[in-house]
Amino acid sequence: MSRSLPNIIITGTPGTGKTSHCELLAERTGLRHISVNQVVKDRECHEGWDEEYQSWIVDEDKLLDAIEEDAKQGGCIIDWHACDLFPKSWIDLVVVLRVDTATLYDRLTARKYPEVKLQENMDSEIMEVLLQEAKESYDEEIVVELQSVTADEMESNVERIEQWLEQWKQNNAS
Ligand code: ADP
Ligand code: MN
Repeated sequence: MSRSLPNIIITGTPGTGKTSHCELLAERTGLRHISVNQVVKDRECHEGWDEEYQSWIVDEDKLLDAIEEDAKQGGCIIDWHACDLFPKSWIDLVVVLRVDTATLYDRLTARKYPEVKLQENMDSEIMEVLLQEAKESYDEEIVVELQSVTADEMESNVERIEQWLEQWKQNNAS
């Protein structure tokens, strides 16, 4: 627990706004945006490409090795559609982004997702899979569910995380 800055996970079903939130938050705070997608690709933390899903088959052990040093240092914003793989001791805040199904449908259709992936992600959002995963993997006090349908919501979400960060710094000042 010697981090001078906290680590934050921003998670949610694909299309809920993780990357948009991470980019804005990184710009405002100077924290590092760790796009897990990018790390998986760049550092080959995968066992190949899944044609049907049009995505990498992630090797979680390799992924954890790849980001461990950054995480131990602190100040990371982790951008990924799963959260249960990260050790509890690494994480200070878990933000779960949520949208209504019509909004999600439009966003994923715009991305030209394959039908099977579109359907699975719609189901995942309806069943609150990521919210459950976050609550099961971390203490409930550090899990925050935020709506991400409009630009105003994104703005207020980022402001809220910035305030949380300031509070964390005060609490952890030595
Ligand atoms: P994710 O990283 O979770 O897949 P993105 O950040 O790539 O999601 O967002 C998916 C799409 O939805 C993008 O076109 C983005 O501009 C839009 N979007 C995300 N969040 C919001 C929001 N709160 N308000 C308006 N548009 C949003
Ligand atoms: Mn993304």
